[in-house]
Amino acid sequence: MTANAVPRRPVVGGNWKMNLDRAGARALLQVLLDRLGGIEGVEVVVCPPSPWLADAHDLLAGSAIRVGAQNVHWEPSGAYTGEVSAAMLAGVAEYAIVGHSERRWAGETGAETNRKLRAALDAGMRPILAVGERLEESRAGRTYSVLHLQLNYALRGFETLPPEVIVAYEPVWAIGTGEAATPEIAQERCAMVRGMIEERFGAAAAAAVRIQYGGSVTAQNIAGYVGQPDIDGALVGGASLDADAFAAICRAVAARTA
Ligand code: PEP
Repeated sequence: MTANAVPRRPVVGGNWKMNLDRAGARALLQVLLDRLGGIEGVEVVVCPPSPWLADAHDLLAGSAIRVGAQNVHWEPSGAYTGEVSAAMLAGVAEYAIVGHSERRWAGETGAETNRKLRAALDAGMRPILAVGERLEESRAGRTYSVLHLQLNYALRGFETLPPEVIVAYEPVWAIGTGEAATPEIAQERCAMVRGMIEERFGAAAAAAVRIQYGGSVTAQNIAGYVGQPDIDGALVGGASLDADAFAAICRAVAARTA
């Protein structure tokens, strides 16, 4: 299905992953602030590594650029060495990526993604729920069932879809590979996800939920995604470390609403 009756504000996330030292992070934040600090027509979220979140929070305060965490732990506090809770992160970050394939690959289960999503919401954060199939699953024709399972596991126990939830469709085979999904495939899969939201939560929730495409998005290929009716922005990894590229991506997405 396609759902473009309700205007949805597009959202672009920059997932820095485990990159940049503090000086590099602050320098990138400063350039982004100069270029995107007053941007309109798109929600821009940068997700630096945890130690630089407070820098991002302070440097970007009062600007149009929001801050997101790359991961959260579901317990508010306790004996979880090396973990950082959503409750703690909420002091410096407004968004939180949950269920990223690089976390799932590191052992995160569907049940844990569900707990993280809940914890982020309970802490007042906006979760960016990442779902996506692997290459072998795509080749085996299992994309629908994989996405359905990931989505419904992550949202288990919810009777309504919290409006803060953003979904990122990120085919694992496209992440960090340079093999971006074609705009047609990305649109088809984002529409598939929207259809699952409709099946589970109804037409109004499906029409309102924002769904990003993620996987080797660049300043060169973003134009193909922005015109697609079920794609409401992008989750960007590698290209988010390049201020020129990330700014160009955000501007291209903002132009959709202009
Ligand atoms: C990501 O990390 O979510 C991602 C999409 O990475 P990349 O843009 O580098 O493929």
